[in-house]
Amino acid sequence: MTEFRGVGIGLGVAQGPVARMAEPLPAPSDAPSTATPEEETARVREAVAAVARELEERGAAAGGSARDVLEAQAMMAEDPTLETEVDTRLQAGKTGEWAVFDAFASFREQLTALGGYLGERAADLDDVAQRVIARLRGVPAPGIPDPGHPFVLVAKDLAPADTALLDLDKVLGLITTEGGPTSHTAILAREKSIVAVVGAAAAKDLPDGTTVIVDAAAGVVTVDPTADELDRAQHRADERRSASSAPLTPGALADGTPVPLLANLGKPGGAAQAVELGAEGVGLFRTEFLFLSASSAPTVAEQRTAYTELLSAFPGKKVVVRVLDAGADKPLPFLNDAHEENPALGLRGLRALRASEDILREQLTALAEADAATRANPEGPADLWVMAPMVSTVEETEYFVALARDYGIKTAGVMVEVPSSALLADRILAHADFASIGTNDLTQYTLAADRLLGSVASFQDPWHPAVLRLVREVGAAGADLGKPVGICGEAAADPLLAVVLVGLGATTLSMAPTALADVRATLLTHTLDDARRIAEAALAADDAASARTAAQNAAARKKETQP
Ligand code: PEP
Ligand code: MG
Repeated sequence: MTEFRGVGIGLGVAQGPVARMAEPLPAPSDAPSTATPEEETARVREAVAAVARELEERGAAAGGSARDVLEAQAMMAEDPTLETEVDTRLQAGKTGEWAVFDAFASFREQLTALGGYLGERAADLDDVAQRVIARLRGVPAPGIPDPGHPFVLVAKDLAPADTALLDLDKVLGLITTEGGPTSHTAILAREKSIVAVVGAAAAKDLPDGTTVIVDAAAGVVTVDPTADELDRAQHRADERRSASSAPLTPGALADGTPVPLLANLGKPGGAAQAVELGAEGVGLFRTEFLFLSASSAPTVAEQRTAYTELLSAFPGKKVVVRVLDAGADKPLPFLNDAHEENPALGLRGLRALRASEDILREQLTALAEADAATRANPEGPADLWVMAPMVSTVEETEYFVALARDYGIKTAGVMVEVPSSALLADRILAHADFASIGTNDLTQYTLAADRLLGSVASFQDPWHPAVLRLVREVGAAGADLGKPVGICGEAAADPLLAVVLVGLGATTLSMAPTALADVRATLLTHTLDDARRIAEAALAADDAASARTAAQNAAARKKETQP
């Protein structure tokens, strides 16, 4: 085994020796001890004291709220009631391991029965018991290992408390054998920018000390890499570090071809961070995120306030607002009331809005009013573009564009997220002012794989040549008709795929603001001709993995031939 796959979280790459999280210890046997109760008592006292000191030391080193948690655990270890419980069992001739296991278990039951704050401490008690038993057995304690040097942590999955306590100076990367891209571990890893590959079952056989490369961008772990592979990974990590501190220049290819880099936002409050990270505008404002917890349709006034705040944050910049995309994973009670067997294929997006046209009309009213309210912005008004989600026919395009124009929206477009729209992009773009490709849904619908379902997660890969061909259709139609074609799905945040998408005709890229630096830096290393050649290489592949490899090879070949 030289490499295996999982789901990469983020785009980083890390390398280092593996340290495994020790598995929970098996329950001790309740066979009588061969030692005397006094000898067992001395062993237990030593182990309890050592564990308590270790917890205190770790707490002092971690500081903050972690210190409070660990000090409380240290006190639990030395709790006199527990000591009495343990002693009773030792006097009955049991081993120290079993006495601790059984006494802590019964104390745990009492705590759980109390409920509330004390009930929640039951899991902490388990952790203390495991540590004491591990010490009695002379084996490593379960939990985050401490091999004394930086390491790549390999675990089944992490408890939130473990993840929160990770020392990022020591943990170079993380591999879990379980968990998917939306697991708690993945969410925290993303938040803390930990280079992680989750759900990599093959990691269960990795011995401690093995050197690995964790490539989150590719979702691949390389075992015992060659010196060359290690060098390349290091180079990528260095490039990434320097990309994050590079100047915030407008997105462009190496030959100067502009590729505006825009932000995906769900709340006007996200605007400040997007601007700080160099977003040149907004490529997708997901309006449904504003109203996910609302039970009734938002009023025109409350929408106008939100849109005005958004437009005011981007003076002189393009802001693409998507009208409500309700349904499937984002149901809005006031738009989706019918139970559907297949909500992703149901009354979703523009279909749902059309069925409640008043809500769509009110949203267009609010958008037009916010646009008018920000016209006089001294730094220049934002350039408002409005688009509809889940458009699957030419007729829907005509409907939406005509309606938006009725409300004075000057630039009205559609999202291309359904294969039918991509295949008819030329006719759709004859009516719409622009198209924005939602690669998340386009991949889901092209590969017929629910984007929320872990069991088919491997199909949800926008590198698939079938998806790329559809993007090419839209790019070509946009070029023929002189209409902009943006990308606003997660694919735009993958730097090399971003190059491919530009090679296929995308004119702007929109992504989570934290991804902007990597994409900006990678675009600057390829010309438009390069991008087209790299895209051709990916298109010629049979599947997503080979498309990615073909693009990597094509990109590397170009670099080698450069002076
Ligand atoms: C997409 O489908 O790619 C997209 C950008 O829309 P959402 O993720 O909100 O469905
Ligand atoms: Mg979508």
